[in-house]
Amino acid sequence: ETIGANLARTVAAFGEREALVDVPSGRRWTYAQFAADVDRVASGLLEMGIETGDTVGIWAPNLPEWTLTQYATARMGAILVNINPAYRTEELQYVLNQSGIRTVVAASSFKTSDYEAMLAQVRSDCPELRDVVIIGGEDWNRLASTDADPVRLKRIAAHLTPDDPINIQYTSGTTGFPKGATLSHRNILNNGFFVGERVQYTEADRVCIPVPFYHCFGMVMGNLACTTHGAAMVIPAPGFDPTASLHAVATERCTSLYGVPTMFIAELGLEDFASYDLSTLRTGIMAGSPCPEHVMRQVIERMNMRDVSICYGMTETSPVSLQTTTSDSLNQRVGTVGRVGPHLEVRVVDPATGETLPRGESGELQTLGYSVMKGYWNDPDKTAEAIDAEGWMHTGDIGLMDADGYVQITGRIKDMVIRGGENIYPREIEEFLYTHPDIVDAQVVGVPDEKYGEELMAWIRVREGAPEPTAVSLREFCSGKIAHYKVPRYVQVIEEFPMTVTGKVRKVDLRAQAMDLLG
Ligand code: ATP
Ligand code: MG
Repeated sequence: ETIGANLARTVAAFGEREALVDVPSGRRWTYAQFAADVDRVASGLLEMGIETGDTVGIWAPNLPEWTLTQYATARMGAILVNINPAYRTEELQYVLNQSGIRTVVAASSFKTSDYEAMLAQVRSDCPELRDVVIIGGEDWNRLASTDADPVRLKRIAAHLTPDDPINIQYTSGTTGFPKGATLSHRNILNNGFFVGERVQYTEADRVCIPVPFYHCFGMVMGNLACTTHGAAMVIPAPGFDPTASLHAVATERCTSLYGVPTMFIAELGLEDFASYDLSTLRTGIMAGSPCPEHVMRQVIERMNMRDVSICYGMTETSPVSLQTTTSDSLNQRVGTVGRVGPHLEVRVVDPATGETLPRGESGELQTLGYSVMKGYWNDPDKTAEAIDAEGWMHTGDIGLMDADGYVQITGRIKDMVIRGGENIYPREIEEFLYTHPDIVDAQVVGVPDEKYGEELMAWIRVREGAPEPTAVSLREFCSGKIAHYKVPRYVQVIEEFPMTVTGKVRKVDLRAQAMDLLG
């Protein structure tokens, strides 16, 4: 099935139910209205000369027009290219040229980003770029008010297949330069559907989506999980704002809330947290990076999200491959990322030998099935490094699977530190540092060392007003509790960690800063 055909089925079943709510502007769409607007935008794109298979960029924070463009491009078989709203001209130009974008739909500006000006600046260096459509501007208004051309749309739909590429999504760039994963209808439509199944979405659900649409967390686990079940997509704000998220949950009676752990930490830390009515929440999705145990407990107890689901995945696998279910115990949701999703396989492999490891042993996680991307856009070499001949996606993540199939993520191959021949997963030390009463967040990286090859540096954020721990006091705290070789040699206090837009700590940057400090 294609995304367009799936949306038509949802409209037939739930046409009068709410599809999309934009809280800041107060605009609302029922499924019937949403699908009608999608057809208008799709017809408008066709009239602009865009054809099936052309790439269309979208560069905006979370606006309803983002979602309309997402479904309109899918409807007419154009390939949507998600452009990170935090990009500046260098990165923008790279993405526009790398994916050969002919048309960009963009917000005029948001906060410190003047999208319109940046596009004007790079235009002469992007030979394939033909049209820039500014949301809310004349061209957008023409698109959005075009009379839908049902005959032409139907003719086009008849030629689309579920395996057509529909989307290029860039990875977060946590470990280096973002890579463009090419995804099909089959990849993302199924993933959105199964993610929604595990949290038991129905047309009665209302899902608050503060995570960026440009990333698969927003557009697949958010939008597609909703439209495949007839649930409502609620946009709390264009960019992340903890107050706006809780306000949206309370006023729109949301049943589900999304976020990476840092977002939940920000919401829980609001001074007026207790004044928001969160009683309608029952579930939500937390993903993207490891969640400290105390945060998970508070999300369940104080935010009322008793069925919160943990997902593990990556852009290259559409994204989710492991997920907890609503019947899992607290411990399973705190310590693991759940079990493999329907119609997928996950195995743990010894990275050195390629052998599948027995349950309980740590190795590289690999995924096989419908969700594995078609490849990196225009990059057959990188694709061949990531996906082997049998189709297994090599995730680069380290984990282990218990006897019941629950998987624990223990680190990333790239983050692993080798000190004096010992393999150290920073995650384990970070978890331990969280137990220190004055430490609110900790990130551990490896730095070069003459004697041991690598040494550990802990970057810590300290509770307001608390004394700053020193390397010596921290060593005392660790002594006797974790193995001596895991005790960080260096300690640095930091106000804010360098983050990706998807809310992950950029350890590459921390490592670079560490090198600067050590000279
Ligand atoms: P890049 O590939 O550009 O370095 P990235 O891998 O962070 O960036 P994404 O595709 O957005 O880009 O993120 C996927 C990665 O996020 C996974 O490979 C894994 O390392 C991490 N991850 C995702 N979910 C979880 C989770 N629940 N717990 C721990 N880590 C997670
Ligand atoms: Mg990655």
